[in-house]
Amino acid sequence: MDEEIRALRDKINEADNEILKQLALRRKFSAEIARAKDVDRSPIRDQKREEDLLVRLIRLGREQGLDAHYVTTVFHEIIEDSIRLQQEYLQRLANREGGEPEVIRVAFQGIEGAYSYLAAKKFFSGFADRFVPMGLPTFAEVVKAVENGQADYAMLPIENTTSGGINEVYDLLLHTRLSIVGEEKYRVSHCLVALKDVTIGSIRKIYSHPQPVAQCSNYLATLPGCKIEYFTDTAMSVAKIKEDGDPTHAAIASEEAARLYDVVIVKRDIANQKENFTRFLVAARNLKKVDLRIPCKTSIVMATAQKPGALVEALLVFRQNGLNLTKIESRPILGNPWEEMFYLDFEGNIDDEKVQQTLEEIRGVTRFLKVLGSYPSQDLPRTSLTPQAMATVAAPQEEKAPRGENAKGAAASIAQGAPGPISSPQGCRLASRAHKPDDTIIKVRGVPIGGAGFVVIAGPCAVESYEQIMTCAREAKERGAQILRGGCFKPRTSPSSFHGRGFEGRVFEGLGLEGLEYLVEAGRAFNLPIITEVLSPTDVEAVAKQADILQVGARNMQNFSLLKEVGRVHRPVLLKRGLMSSIDELLQAAEYILEQGNQQVLLCERGIRTFETATRHTLDLGAIPKLKSLTHLPVVVDPSHAAGERDLVPPLALAAKAVGSHGIMIEIHPDPEKALSDGPQALTFLQFETLMKQLFKN
Ligand code: PEP
Ligand code: MN
Repeated sequence: MDEEIRALRDKINEADNEILKQLALRRKFSAEIARAKDVDRSPIRDQKREEDLLVRLIRLGREQGLDAHYVTTVFHEIIEDSIRLQQEYLQRLANREGGEPEVIRVAFQGIEGAYSYLAAKKFFSGFADRFVPMGLPTFAEVVKAVENGQADYAMLPIENTTSGGINEVYDLLLHTRLSIVGEEKYRVSHCLVALKDVTIGSIRKIYSHPQPVAQCSNYLATLPGCKIEYFTDTAMSVAKIKEDGDPTHAAIASEEAARLYDVVIVKRDIANQKENFTRFLVAARNLKKVDLRIPCKTSIVMATAQKPGALVEALLVFRQNGLNLTKIESRPILGNPWEEMFYLDFEGNIDDEKVQQTLEEIRGVTRFLKVLGSYPSQDLPRTSLTPQAMATVAAPQEEKAPRGENAKGAAASIAQGAPGPISSPQGCRLASRAHKPDDTIIKVRGVPIGGAGFVVIAGPCAVESYEQIMTCAREAKERGAQILRGGCFKPRTSPSSFHGRGFEGRVFEGLGLEGLEYLVEAGRAFNLPIITEVLSPTDVEAVAKQADILQVGARNMQNFSLLKEVGRVHRPVLLKRGLMSSIDELLQAAEYILEQGNQQVLLCERGIRTFETATRHTLDLGAIPKLKSLTHLPVVVDPSHAAGERDLVPPLALAAKAVGSHGIMIEIHPDPEKALSDGPQALTFLQFETLMKQLFKN
């Protein structure tokens, strides 16, 4: 047995070595391309080429049993590395740096292992052999070290996605002569670390910086026996526990800091927010030129005139010049109470004429303007394949004849819904076109819903187990769905009867928050936003913390306390039309949510009760163009619950697209016969694959 494992490991090692060799070779070619591109002035990024490359690789991958998500994830890293490399090459050319410096001295606040240090290492990873870190006690000293030439660059944290802006750094930027030459977004992941062989139960004191302590408050609340002691920074806290050698002491710091100081991670990933990033600015003595082909950001500070509308006047200049603002932050002006400085970042390059013109105009309407610098943007959008491309990349084996295919032609020939005359129902103001003529486009983790696009939400009726939701997520992603659904709190029409099989003999009401955890993991694993139903006003807050979209089910369309509650959270809400509700009532229900402040409402037609003979409910297709004429809100269709029978779902889905809906929500299941709810209407994976191809052919 041992022998066999050893032999296999040798084979894996060989394969890994081969992968490394090929990666190095690919980098070499990529560098050559950078040179060639510079000669013929072609752009660094070629979206079309990246898309073609991914399609080709996904197809090849599928032939070898590798799923699309895996292939895309690996190649996103590779493509990004290549772009970074090519950008660095152009940057060096643009600045005609006379010879390469022997060392790159980077000042940061803290000691080695601090997050600033880690971010600096990442930013300068292309120069690892020349990187000289210079840890200093304060941000002011970091800035000064670069100003007086002791260091070449300053690494300054400017904002964190959990705790917000770092005021001290903003204030330093106002006065320094340094320029911003780069940015780095670093994922912060806090761990509880201690000496070897220490268990959580024996820890009595935890050292860390106040920021990480605040960011891990939920976890720390589970350790009431521990005293928290604030310390200068995370890495120093680790150094301190190492030096003291007291086994009852621990620290909150990064995994890298634990490794650097040779202590042990007791618990990983303890922050309240799993997605926790800090953005750092890189500053140097001189401005750096950025090649115009590199996506670029510019940062400025300005003080507007003291008159009403002065800020709006300045901001309008950006709009008029078509420049996209990515950040605005205000800080008080010390010594001038109630006056503010505004810090702005926008997409653009100071060497671009349009940007120069904009700044000229801004100067005319402000009383102070300072350009902090232009630098390559880190917000490079990853090329992701459209649902069309994903759904139609051929699978290795020939597809089998789909069931229920007959209606596709008929549905496709129905005309797109054209907006009719505008006459909003009574009590529908915020949802009306009169209030907002343009379509609302709701972006969920980068996936736009509304406007011209067509989005597919897929997943099981209910989350039944970790494996089940993972399998569904893989399938959804593989076939081009963009959002994952899964019910965790299930409304059941009857408290005693159940569908086919029971769950321990009882009606299955969902796995609740445990199910939501599985759904979150599945969404994260396959990079899919998630939607789940919330049944009770008291669950809204907890569900909104985890889910990307909250669903209000058909049976709750007029549960006004629930509507008000989801109106108070910042998550998009998918509101389903009630079984017996008119279009007007649907819009009025939406109004309850909008009135509370939440403007991100999606409407969903899911079938109403009429004189059904063949289907579970009657899908009201006419409601889609009608709703589109009355409201700016996106309208999606759930053919699964309307049909109630899987063979009827694909034709209704095609019809929903044909009448102009903004998307569909489809129930799928790895083994529909065994589903704990709505099995009869769940598509098999094969049916889903076929449907996706039909939806996105041409
Ligand atoms: C669902 O989508 O899981 C659901 C219960 O749908 P509806 O509220 O439309 O019946
Ligand atoms: Mn269902």
